[in-house]
Parts: sequence; C-alpha cells; structure tokens
Amino acid sequence: MKFGGTSMAGIERIRHVAGLVKREVEAGNQAAVVVSAMAGETDRLVQFCREASSVYDPREYDVVVASGEQVTSGLLAITLQGMGLNARSYMGWQLPIMTSGHAAALIEGIDAQVLERVFDEGGIAVIPGFQGVTPAGDVTTLGRGGSDTSAVALAAAVKADCCDIYTDVDGVYTTDPRIVPRARKLPAVTYEEMLELASVGAKVLQTRSVGLAMREKVPVRVLSSFEDRPGTWVVGDDRIGEFDMERQLITGIAYDKNEARLTLTGVPHRAGSVAAVFAPLAEAGINVDMIVQSVPREGQESDLTFTVPTASLAHSKAILAERREAIGFDELLTDTNVVKVSAVGVGMRSNAGIAAQMFEALAGRGINILAISTSEIKVSVLIPEEYTELAVRVLHTSYGLDAEETG
Ligand code: ADP
Ligand code: ASP
Ligand code: MG
Repeated sequence: MKFGGTSMAGIERIRHVAGLVKREVEAGNQAAVVVSAMAGETDRLVQFCREASSVYDPREYDVVVASGEQVTSGLLAITLQGMGLNARSYMGWQLPIMTSGHAAALIEGIDAQVLERVFDEGGIAVIPGFQGVTPAGDVTTLGRGGSDTSAVALAAAVKADCCDIYTDVDGVYTTDPRIVPRARKLPAVTYEEMLELASVGAKVLQTRSVGLAMREKVPVRVLSSFEDRPGTWVVGDDRIGEFDMERQLITGIAYDKNEARLTLTGVPHRAGSVAAVFAPLAEAGINVDMIVQSVPREGQESDLTFTVPTASLAHSKAILAERREAIGFDELLTDTNVVKVSAVGVGMRSNAGIAAQMFEALAGRGINILAISTSEIKVSVLIPEEYTELAVRVLHTSYGLDAEETG
C-alpha cells in the first residue's frame, strides 16, 4: 500500500490512512506500507536548497529532501501502534533499498529479507517512499513523484499480489479530472498505455514506476484514500480482457507544462550542424524532446526549434551560447510559456487520421501549433500555455472521451 502526500497531510489524515492499513491486515492480508511526505513538504524542502545556493550538491539535496518521508513514516508507525498494531518504520538504508546516483537515483536492488521477517512475525513495515541508499551509505532520492517507484519496487521484491497506490483521485482517468470535470475513470489500462500517459505528463503515477511494474509484472491499482471506490487496474495486455470495458481508440489526453522551447535562427543548412547543436546537450545529460527544423527553399540558413525540460533551460542556454560561433547560428530565442498536449492510445497503430483530427480540433479553436511529435501510440503538440485547459477539453470531446452528463 502506498499513500501519497495529500493522504499523509496532517495527523487526522494519517489516522485515516492507519484505518485503511488496519482494515487490510484484518482482512487477513500481509501489507507493507510506503508513504510520501506531507503534501507541499517536498516543494518546501527543494525551495530551501535553492535559497541556500543557486547551484547545490545533489548529495546534500538528497539529505534535505529525503527527510519529509522520514517524518510521515514515523508518524504512521506511531499511529498504527496506538491502534494496537505491530508496526515499525524502516528507513531506506535499513532494508536496504540500494541505489546509484543522486537526485534521481536508480534502484539497483532491494533486499527482501527484512520485510519477509516482519511479515513472518505478523508485523507491518512502514517505509518512507522516495528514498534509497548508496553502497557508501549516503541517502538518495528517486526523483519527484518517486514514492510510486519505491512502492512498485518493494512490491516486486516481496512478490506481492498487487501494489495499491492510494492517492487523491479514485483512479486513472481519460485526462486530469481536475481540469476536465467530464473525464471518465478507466476500470483498467495496460502498462504500455499508462507508461505513455505518464511520460507525457499524467502525473498520477511516476513514469519510472510504470516501467518497473511492466518489467516485473506487478499488478498496480490506483485508488482513493478518501473514498471507498473500485479504482483503476494497471495490468498487462493479457489481462485487459478481464475488465468489462469498451476499448477506445484514444485512451487519454495528458499535458505537460514542464517544457521550454528554444529556437536557434540562422543555423547553417549543412550536414553536421544539427549534430553540433544536440551533441553537447546530450553530453550534459539534457533530454531534448520535440524537434522541428525548417528547410530553406533558397539560401543556406534554417531555423531549429526544440524543447527541453524547464529545469534544464538555463543550462541549455549556457551551453549553446558558448558554442554560438562554432555552430554558427544568429539568435537564441526561448519561451517557457508553452505546454505539450498529447493524445495516447494503442488504437492509433491501426488507425489513420488521429493526428489530423487533433490538428483540426485545435484549429477550430484558433490554437496555433508550435511543434509536433508522434510515436506509434502518441501524438503531441506544443502550444501556448494559456490554451492548456481549452486544448485538453476540446481534444477530450473531439475523441469522444467525455462522460455522460451526471448533473
Ligand atoms: P500523490 O501525492 O498521491 O502521489 P499526485 O499529485 O502525484 O498524487 O498525483 C495525483 C494527481 O494526478 C491527481 O490529483 C490529478 O490531478 C493528476 N492527474 C493527472 N492526470 C491524471 C489522470 N489521467 N488520471 C488521474 N489523475 C490525473
Ligand atoms: N515527496 C516526493 C515528491 O513530492 C515523492 C512522492 O511524493 O512521490 O516528489
Ligand atoms: Mg505522486
């Protein structure tokens, strides 16, 4: 069982979570519990690091931001003990959850022995999500939203029947239910669809957690901590038939405001200039996402537009400015007021016209497209950020995803 930040925000809510854990255990199940920091706490801790220094050591960042989950795991253990349950917290280093790297550390392995012993003794282990440890004993964190990955990794390590992700919505919807009230809850989605949805911005599950669940075949269920409702199963292709549902061409719409656009004007149109732009960015570990290049009808210069995560914008600008002469571009323009909106669905593989429908729907509302990218099961467009809600709603309706009016 994993509980997100909203579910852990304050003693009242932690008490409610403890009640859900108690119910699970009393139903005869063995449960391990992974918790997030209280809502807003990780943001607050990240902000402290930024204020302390504009460039901070990732090792020390991890020391600071991992602390939020330590607090909630201890509080939940205390609360469960107060209800007469045999609960105890175990920090990442006590299991251990072995990782490499800092700030977005990778899980290398989890020793299941401690958890198995706790299960054998009829106990409940409460584990801080988001955190791991390096072989040298340094605390690490798994990247924002990483408690989902902690939960799936632990579920895989103990070969759990399933990994229940309790959050502040009651499942995975056709789009973010907070911006489209007529979004529909999906009874089930495949790992593949969820992976694509998460990677283009549906933050209900961290992308890495879905990839891990897919590789380790861990059935994941997303459900509400606040309402007793069925939730959404995230399962393999082979199991999707068990769910009585109509498969739609498009599974869902997602948006990501965390992208920044860069445009280089006057880039020499010759072999090697594009490589000269992207090679140094790749070397710096910057993930370039969408790319558009204009091809000159005459003359020798083209424009090159692409996106990077907003957090990498300053670094990207510095790298390119330094190489301005070597690359030979005129101007470097940037824009952070953009959003990437994507439609995802495995049905796209066998259906033409999904992208055209998207462009038409956006055109109908006068929304200009700045960049486009596609994959086998996804179409994404970059548009001005001010149109986020309008675009998501229009596409949701256009692909026939709106729920019936419930009044
Ligand atoms: P937690 O703190 O529990 O980890 P998150 O805030 O990380 O919760 O994720 C839950 C949020 O994800 C929801 O409140 C919702 O606004 C957002 N979300 C975005 N896309 C979707 C979607 N397709 N289905 C459900 N929730 C979504
Ligand atoms: N507390 C961490 C974050 O806000 C991890 C998580 O909640 O999943 O990113
Ligand atoms: Mg989350």
